[in-house]
Amino acid sequence: MIYLDNAATTKVCDEAAAAITACLQGNYGNPSSLHKMGIEAEKIIDNARKIIGAALACEPECIFFTSGATESNNLAIFGATGVYGRRKRKIVTTSIEHPSVSECMKRLEEDGFEVIRISPNSDGEISADDFADVVDENTCLVSIMLVNNENGYIVPVGRIFKDVKRKNPEIITHCDAVQGFMKIPFKSKELNADLISISGHKIYSAKGVGAIYVKKGIRLKPVCYGGGQEKGLRSGTESVPLIAGFGATVERLKGTLDFRLNKAKELREYFLNRVDKLDDISLNFKEDNLPYIINVSVKGIRSEIMLHFLEEKGIYVSSGSACSKGARSNVLKEFGLSDELIDSSIRISTSFENTFEDMEELINAIAEARQRFNY
Ligand code: PMP
Repeated sequence: MIYLDNAATTKVCDEAAAAITACLQGNYGNPSSLHKMGIEAEKIIDNARKIIGAALACEPECIFFTSGATESNNLAIFGATGVYGRRKRKIVTTSIEHPSVSECMKRLEEDGFEVIRISPNSDGEISADDFADVVDENTCLVSIMLVNNENGYIVPVGRIFKDVKRKNPEIITHCDAVQGFMKIPFKSKELNADLISISGHKIYSAKGVGAIYVKKGIRLKPVCYGGGQEKGLRSGTESVPLIAGFGATVERLKGTLDFRLNKAKELREYFLNRVDKLDDISLNFKEDNLPYIINVSVKGIRSEIMLHFLEEKGIYVSSGSACSKGARSNVLKEFGLSDELIDSSIRISTSFENTFEDMEELINAIAEARQRFNY
């Protein structure tokens, strides 16, 4: 089996699996309980909070655990507009966001907010100037992703947020950093973000856990009310096992970023050198995009056909975004791709465990598919 769908989700690493199992059957106390087992569980959470805070170069108190980035994004957007959007009714975002942001925006439009979506320009870049032009004193929130999940485009979020804050320091800045966290180097301060969403299962931890960074002094209206866990921001008994696993993953990945980034670049390079020999393959990304994501179109072969052909050979990739379940991707259209290219696009996303042999098999399989489908 060759798994090349790591932007959709990843295999849980040994360290995370061990931490999760230890909590499932050993340290299974409720962190709200006052006895020793409860205190132990609380310590486990605090430890993970410290590790994740360190990875974002912020204080642990700024980290709040959630069920994943979808929840973090919802909490950031509805939470911030709930506090800061009563009188200021304008939000600025991009047209290339993940549905866990773009669907929130649609909902806020129904509630009377004006949502402005900045599209990539003719060079395929999200321009800081476009943001600076539209934010004003009536803007309460700017929400931008760090790395696009479909083509790996890295948005210059730090620069955009800096300009936004310069124009109006009261605007709340939110970054969906899911595809960038532990994959490219960044610190919370460098992003100039008030809120940052991250997720565990994209970085070798379990599904169902994520976090939100909330800068000191920023208030959010909770989305979920109850027992007041996570300082009242996110009620509900904490998933101690998954949080422990999340912490263990981040600790495991510490100091390996350069290695993983280089590995991804080498794998992409290998793929590109080999794919060069095949005609009619279009590369839907640029050199400086996140190297873990390789989005290509094999002209004349629809994505689903190619995906299932590769699957028969034990190779797993995605068609466009894993979240869009076969629907034509709006995001790639925003980057100027034709319908024909979008309909034949596949997303190959590597992990540090993939090898050149994996790439070789993938290329051979793509070449075979082109023959099989008589192209
Ligand atoms: N944002 C981006 C950019 C993503 O790629 C994803 C996962 N597809 C999410 C948000 C949602 O994350 P989760 O699965 O943790 O809810």
